[in-house]
Amino acid sequence: MSEETMDRLDRRDFMIASIATVGASAALLGSAGAANAQEEATASASPGSGTVYTGDVIDGKKVVSALDVNDLEPGRTHRLYFQGVETPTGHHWNVSVIVARGAKPGKRVVLTSGVHGDEMSSIQTVLTVMNQLDPSEMSGTVMAVTDISRPALEGMQRRWPNQGRGIDLIDMNREWPGNENGLTATSRHAGLLFNRLLRPNADAAIDFHTGTTGVEVTAFNIGEVDRPEVKAMLDLYPVGQIFNMPKQAYPTVLHNAFIDVGIPAITPEVGAARVLDTGMIPLFVEGTMNVLKHYGIVAGPMGRTAKDVTVFIGNSGFPVLATKGGIVEYLVKLNDKVEAGQKVAIQRNGFGDVVAEYTCEIAGEVMGLRTDAMAEPGNPLIMVLFNSPTPDSVETYPE
Ligand SMILES: [Zn+2]
Repeated sequence: MSEETMDRLDRRDFMIASIATVGASAALLGSAGAANAQEEATASASPGSGTVYTGDVIDGKKVVSALDVNDLEPGRTHRLYFQGVETPTGHHWNVSVIVARGAKPGKRVVLTSGVHGDEMSSIQTVLTVMNQLDPSEMSGTVMAVTDISRPALEGMQRRWPNQGRGIDLIDMNREWPGNENGLTATSRHAGLLFNRLLRPNADAAIDFHTGTTGVEVTAFNIGEVDRPEVKAMLDLYPVGQIFNMPKQAYPTVLHNAFIDVGIPAITPEVGAARVLDTGMIPLFVEGTMNVLKHYGIVAGPMGRTAKDVTVFIGNSGFPVLATKGGIVEYLVKLNDKVEAGQKVAIQRNGFGDVVAEYTCEIAGEVMGLRTDAMAEPGNPLIMVLFNSPTPDSVETYPE
């Protein structure tokens, strides 16, 4: 029996079992583990999950269902497809994988983008970094996975359109580390990627995002500054805001899934959704190259870092919420400092009457602005980064 057939049979078996009974889940996980162990034994003696080639080749690129970058030839760049979750028509959501495997051994950094489907600058930042790498001169490996939430990207929208139980839009950045036996395609896809591609190949990880559709944001990074390895990465970016977000606020985002397994990780936020933010992308490329130098993968002097800009660090995001319907005019712009009680926006109805005046209740810096000019009650209009004595443990920013 070929490796490919084995792999497919294993997955089919535990998928059927997971539907049959919830009570069997412990045993199920045990057998899935055994299947993984078999793959490891047959595919590779190196650490991680080992590389499994499905036998498929798409546009000249080999398809893998598990990857250990140490199995790839050193000193060159490899392009692969990772076989993601199976679709209703029996195909797979394959994702694009670029591996710059250094000529010499060293640390392995993973760069990811496209967990949300409307965040184009995140993809462009990763690709720009990869294009600057020369693996023949590198010590270590950089792996990029650029289009993680393929179904969301096909429609350039934030969420994954899941069809399994009627129309359902799933935010993939609330699914990590995923579950290969999960009830939704999104959860299973996350589980496959995390277990077989991302985690086994990461000594550090950076998951790139932007603001969401209808919101513009400053250049900022998300990460916990009291974790020394995370702080070291944050300090290497020449960007003016750090969201020192407590892990418990967003436990299921990708960078926190890495943190949970001991891999330092951050989330850069590269401006507005849908567009290429050509002003901000170079800042994050420079910062990411600094991180690769920090880990000894790339040689050369550091570029600009946080030392070269004024950095505001906050641990919470304060949303100014619309209380009326109407068109909103802002009295502040991105990166402005605001005082407690400052008037920040007004709103008019269809007659031109002012129906609401909005003040910010706390002092901080503007981090995000709604760009859709019409708002209804409940819409976040302005997001202000600030320091709370007791950091929020609830989601306050649509990363
Ligand atoms: Zn995002």
